[in-house]
Amino acid sequence: MTYTTLSQFFSRHFAMKVQKLSINAGFTCPNRDGTVGRGGCTYCNNQTFNPDYCSPHESVAEQLERGKAFFAHKYPAMRYLAYFQAYTSTYAPTSHLIALYEEALGVKDMVGIVIGTRPDCMPPELLEWLAAKAKTTFVMVEYGVESCYNRTLQRINRGHDFACAERTIQLTKAAGIHVGTHFILGLPGESHADIMASVPLINRLAPDTLKLHQLQIVRGTRMAEEYAEKPHDFGLYSTADDYCQLVCDVLERLAPGIAVERFTSSSPKSLLIAPDWGMKNHEFTALVQREMLRRGSKQGCKIEAGR
Ligand code: SF4
Repeated sequence: MTYTTLSQFFSRHFAMKVQKLSINAGFTCPNRDGTVGRGGCTYCNNQTFNPDYCSPHESVAEQLERGKAFFAHKYPAMRYLAYFQAYTSTYAPTSHLIALYEEALGVKDMVGIVIGTRPDCMPPELLEWLAAKAKTTFVMVEYGVESCYNRTLQRINRGHDFACAERTIQLTKAAGIHVGTHFILGLPGESHADIMASVPLINRLAPDTLKLHQLQIVRGTRMAEEYAEKPHDFGLYSTADDYCQLVCDVLERLAPGIAVERFTSSSPKSLLIAPDWGMKNHEFTALVQREMLRRGSKQGCKIEAGR
C-alpha cells in the first residue's frame, strides 16, 4: 500500500482480524445541551453516523451481539472492538461510563474498546480508569479535532479550540491509551494552502490513527441553512477526483507512522445535500491508491523535502 492502513495498525496489536462494532449507548452532547454550547456543531446531524444495527433502546451487550451476528457468518474467527460512536461517548457520570464500558468488554469475543468523543470531554478520573484498563486490554479514544484553525472551529461552533485538542491528546497518549483523530477537509474558509499547513500540526499531534472526511452538507443542520443562503462561501469538492487530489497531497505530507482509517464519509442519500459523488468508500480508497501509484508517491514522501 502507498499509505499506512488501519489493518496494518491493528496487526501490530492483534494476531487475528478485528472489526469495530458501533454502539449507540444513548449519550448526548455537551455542545447541544447548553453545557458547552447549544445547537451543536453546524455540520452535525447525528443520524448520519449510526449503522442500522445500533439502537439506544437496546443494551450495549445486545447491540454488540447484533453487530457480531452481522459479521460472524462471514468471518467466524473475527474478534471485535466495541466502538462507542454516537454523540459524545464520555459525556455521562464516570461511574455510569465505566459500567457501560465494562459491559461491552464482558461480551464474548470483544478484545477492546474504542470511544469517540470531544477533546474537551475527558475528565481526569475517567482518563485514570482508561489508563488502568489499557494495561490489560486495547483501549483507544477517538477525538474529533476537525480543524487546526481556531477561526474555523469558531465558525462551525465546535465549542473548543485547537490547543484543547493538543492538550487532551498529549495527556491521553501519556496515559498509555491509543489515540485516534478525526478531521474534516474542506471546511468553509480553509484554502488548499491552509489544509496543507495543517498537516505538520497533525504530525505533531502524532495520533495512532486518522480519519479524514470531506465536508458534506447534510439536511437538518445549521450548515445546510448557511449553504442555502451563501453556497459560494463553501469550497466543496464537487468531484471525487478533486477530493482525491487533495487527499493525496495530504498523504504525501503525513507522517508514515499515522494509520489512515478512512478518507470519506458517506451520509445517507436521504440526508445528503452536497457533494454527491455516487461513490462508495472502498471505491474512493481505490482511487486514492491508483493516484498515489501514478504519482510514484508514498505517505510522508514529501516531508523531508519540505515541499
Ligand atoms: S459533531 Fe459531535 S460534538 Fe458536534 S454536535 Fe455533533 S455530537 Fe456534538
